[in-house]
Amino acid sequence: MRAMEGGDSMSRPTPSHAVDVVSALDISDAPLGPSRNWPPLLARLFDVMLCSPVQIVLFWGPDYLALYNDAYAPTIGSKHPHAFGRPASEGWSELWDDLRPLLDQVRLTGEPVYARDRPFFIERHGYLEEVNFDIAYSAVREVDGSIAGVLCIVSETTERMRAERQLRANEARLSFLDSLSRETVLSADANAIMDTSTRMLGQRLGGVSCSYADVEPDGDTITVRGEWTGPGAHSVIGQYRLSQFGETVARTLRAGQPLTLNHVREELPRELSALFTELGIVATASIPLVKDGRLTALMSVNYAAPHRWTPDELALLSEVAERSWAHIERVRAEERARAEAERARLAITAAAIGTWDYQPALDLLKWDARCKELFGLPPDAEVSYAGSFLAGLHPEDRERAAAAVENALSTGADYNIEFRTIGLRDGKQRWLAATGSRLQIDDHPLRFMGTVIDITQRKRTEAELQALNATLERRVMEEVEERSKAEDRLRQAQKMEAVGQLTGGIAHDFNNMLAVIISGLNLTQRKLDKGDTDVGRFVEAALEGAQRAATLTQRLLAFSRQQPLSPKPVEVGRLVTGMSDLLIRTLGETIRVETVIGAGLWQVRVDPAQLESAILNLAVNARDAMPEGGTLTVETANVDVDDLHARDSGIAVGHYVLIAVTDTGTGMDEATISRAFDPFFTTKPVGKGTGLGLSQVYGFVRQSGGHVRIYSELDLGTTVKIYLPRLQGPMPAEPPREPRDVARRGTAAETVLVVEDDARVRALSSEVLRDLGYTVVEAAGPLEALRFIEAGPCPALLFTDVVMPGMSGRQLVDEVRRLHPALKVLYTTGYTRDAIVHNGTLDAGTHLLPKPFNVEALAAKVRAILDE
Ligand code: ADP
Ligand code: MG
Repeated sequence: MRAMEGGDSMSRPTPSHAVDVVSALDISDAPLGPSRNWPPLLARLFDVMLCSPVQIVLFWGPDYLALYNDAYAPTIGSKHPHAFGRPASEGWSELWDDLRPLLDQVRLTGEPVYARDRPFFIERHGYLEEVNFDIAYSAVREVDGSIAGVLCIVSETTERMRAERQLRANEARLSFLDSLSRETVLSADANAIMDTSTRMLGQRLGGVSCSYADVEPDGDTITVRGEWTGPGAHSVIGQYRLSQFGETVARTLRAGQPLTLNHVREELPRELSALFTELGIVATASIPLVKDGRLTALMSVNYAAPHRWTPDELALLSEVAERSWAHIERVRAEERARAEAERARLAITAAAIGTWDYQPALDLLKWDARCKELFGLPPDAEVSYAGSFLAGLHPEDRERAAAAVENALSTGADYNIEFRTIGLRDGKQRWLAATGSRLQIDDHPLRFMGTVIDITQRKRTEAELQALNATLERRVMEEVEERSKAEDRLRQAQKMEAVGQLTGGIAHDFNNMLAVIISGLNLTQRKLDKGDTDVGRFVEAALEGAQRAATLTQRLLAFSRQQPLSPKPVEVGRLVTGMSDLLIRTLGETIRVETVIGAGLWQVRVDPAQLESAILNLAVNARDAMPEGGTLTVETANVDVDDLHARDSGIAVGHYVLIAVTDTGTGMDEATISRAFDPFFTTKPVGKGTGLGLSQVYGFVRQSGGHVRIYSELDLGTTVKIYLPRLQGPMPAEPPREPRDVARRGTAAETVLVVEDDARVRALSSEVLRDLGYTVVEAAGPLEALRFIEAGPCPALLFTDVVMPGMSGRQLVDEVRRLHPALKVLYTTGYTRDAIVHNGTLDAGTHLLPKPFNVEALAAKVRAILDE
């Protein structure tokens, strides 16, 4: 191609060849004007350029008007053809700052510029890119030596440079992957592989951390198992849910697409970016590994600052992830296989099963190594039925085992036997259990196969157990005996303590009373000796002491529930009302007494005197508990104890009349409540309490078929509840009251036969009766009494002791009544467990005067009986 002067014929509107462009210049208003007007130097130069295959551009004049050839045009892309003939500052505006100094240097100094692979940033395809050129810029001089332009002979090397860079990157990547695999290849530990891979990759990519995570089969749960963290980075080890990071992130990864975030905060909505920010992550890339259509693992590299991910980096990340996954999975599979093999080996060793196979027709016996071992043989030993099996059996078991084999072979019965072996080489005794069965397939010779295991240890344990069992009974017996001895000792000690307490208490009280009696009588005696008969005071004191002693024994009996009661139908309401005067007087001014009598109270059947004394005892206790004053309430009501109530109160089911005595006093603690009913248990100072009040209440109530309970709170007060069983059936008519003031004296016409083995008591009783005006006959025993009755007239009254040597009072009465059926009898006794008291109650129609008694009591009782 040649430059065409005046090529007017060429007039295409958008010429692309330099030649055409030159033609176009002709008609344009380009600064150079049409080529025919160019300076000869320029025209000549251009002509030379134009036919060169080398990339040449000529910058002409101080404005560096650009002229280039066809070879050059492609290197400036879309700048051509507009750049042609225009100032370089227009066509190369984006790199003018870079280009101009080069051109200036050549044009102003004449010095050429050479460079290889000189980089330029140029926008020739619509975007800025880095390109490389080998350049040779030199001055174009006029004949006079002045510089008219800069001739640039260039050669674009961008492609070669890129290829080289790519090559270098590839080499680096490969050498990285190579060193990574060298570091991990020998590892058989998944964790170590993860650690090394994440460390090397994280450091290589200049991140702050790198992690490897497994994705559970649910496709959502991510477990970060391995990671590397650079200085100051957060650990992300732990479990996460993919869905936490939003639908887009989850979907991208599940689809196997890498997730790249150059700047988390700018690319994700706030609530999601916060999750990353919390972990100190500003930029991140995660490569998902999708295996068999399922997301199985993730490898991520994180940055603490914004980061522009390059395709190279992503490729590396992807490659490492893939390799690590494969390696980790292989190692894991190996681990599983190893564990599996180990388990199987352990199972076999643990079971230690030997196998055997016997063909009787061929007399062929096969044992595996374990079986041989159990017969004390090495693995390579030859074996036979007689020479090994029978020979190896313990002599005592041989016959039995051989018979079992014979039986199994002939009948097909199960072979299931335990026997001992004596090791054929090692001489060791072992216990074995063998099982097997006969096998008959078509016409093949009969086979007998099975297994054998060592049960020596089990047998030993069994034997030990048996020995233990044999002695167990004896040891238990011994133990029980020892324990019961200890219990006996304890009971004995407790009994002694109780007896000591009881006797001590009685002795103390009796001594006090006896002291009063003795000193009273002593004083009386002395006065009488001096002829002074003014002894009433002392006698009274002595009597009072004696009376108290009598009460004390009464209480003791009451507690032992052996006092003779005279139960009769009682209206509790009336009884309580009748007591209020007494209560008010007993309790004093500081204590208010309230009685609440329930309407329509049922009847009860009790000894009214004992009931009164029980209520009085409770009232006295209440008074003692309220030294500062308070209120005593006596309340009566009907109570129906049903199943439920019975179960938690321990009171038998039934109807009761309740008498509740409540005070507002000091109350009792648990320990006091639990002992309050004990006889002689008292918290009161000596001389104040006897400890017999509540025991009387208890004894009386229990003997009457009732129940008594204490409810108490410290500092609040106490309620004692007495439950007396309801009297069923019609109310018997109350016997007429004894007239109080009838003459208690007797007449000489009334003979009383006094039968008493104790001479002093007899003399005293007789004396009293004579004093009362009766005729008295004394008998020292039942026989004497019988003699008198058989001999003479029938006495008006037989007054007899119950317990006497030879014959009891009861028997005496039976004898006498054969002669005189209507004879009236009055018993007296110091005991109560005797012939006339049954179940603590006097036999009907029987009269009893308990010892000790006073003159009034005797007089009244005798009179009453005689007057019946
Ligand atoms: P005593 O009254 O002679 O001590 P009791 O058998 O009547 O003997 O009572 C035994 C003990 O029970 C008393 O010493 C006292 O500690 C306690 N007690 C009985 N009734 C009451 C009560 N109403 N309030 C507080 N304590 C009581
Ligand atoms: Mg008391």
